[in-house]
Amino acid sequence: MKHILVTNDDGVLAPGLLALAQEMRKLGRVSILAPDRNWSGGGHVKTLDRALRVREFLLADGTTAFASDGAPSDCVALAALGYFKEPIDLVVSGINVGANLGHDVTYSGTVTAAMEAVIAGVPGIAVSLETPEHHVGEIDFGIAARAAGKVVRHAIENGLPAETLLNVNVPFLKNEEMRGFRLTRQGLRVYHSRLDERTDPRGRPYYWIAGDAPTGVPERGTDIGALAEGYVSVTPLHLDLTAYRALTDLNTWAWDEDSENPFFELLVPDKSETPK
Ligand code: MN
Repeated sequence: MKHILVTNDDGVLAPGLLALAQEMRKLGRVSILAPDRNWSGGGHVKTLDRALRVREFLLADGTTAFASDGAPSDCVALAALGYFKEPIDLVVSGINVGANLGHDVTYSGTVTAAMEAVIAGVPGIAVSLETPEHHVGEIDFGIAARAAGKVVRHAIENGLPAETLLNVNVPFLKNEEMRGFRLTRQGLRVYHSRLDERTDPRGRPYYWIAGDAPTGVPERGTDIGALAEGYVSVTPLHLDLTAYRALTDLNTWAWDEDSENPFFELLVPDKSETPK
């Protein structure tokens, strides 16, 4: 039986985490270790300059969960390095309120938790539910949880490719409106950030990074396109951020014009090692 770590970035008491944990319990033995507060947009964090504390919580259904004062990636590191005294076989992060698409993955605590899993040598899957910007009232995580269950079951049966995490995004649709699953690549997010400068009571300026929620280019084959068409998007990601095409381009620069200085020659990548 697989030992599944469930974590998130919305905080241990977020209803999306409970829905995910309940679904994961059908597939394995579940341990929960998540941040004790909301870390949305917190990115990939490694806390090195202070101690991490872990407290026990009871979730709404009576489940025991643990919460740390670190980031989602810290929670994964804690678990992978032995907090539960038993190895973790799989990390599932979510269900996040709001999609994580395109460049969002670098900001997302939900996705960076799954990235930390990959670094720890454990398969990682991030699950996010596209949620309308000004949604009021309770969110139904049922469909997203079932989608997560399906992806995780396949990942357990087949094994994820090495060094790979899955970024799963579920559209905000009713069951009968869902069209299925699509394997996708990252699309292009369009951010509408704007600086809101104000003055504090002592006359000093302060700033909010404000503006409208990001949109995206709904290109076919991308995560953004899949959601726009009513599909669950499954994007395999890896942490190799090398821009391989740029490597070829940079190799045409005149690096060796200072050829009396061997340092510059060392910078030039060997053409045979440049992937196509
Ligand atoms: Mn979040």
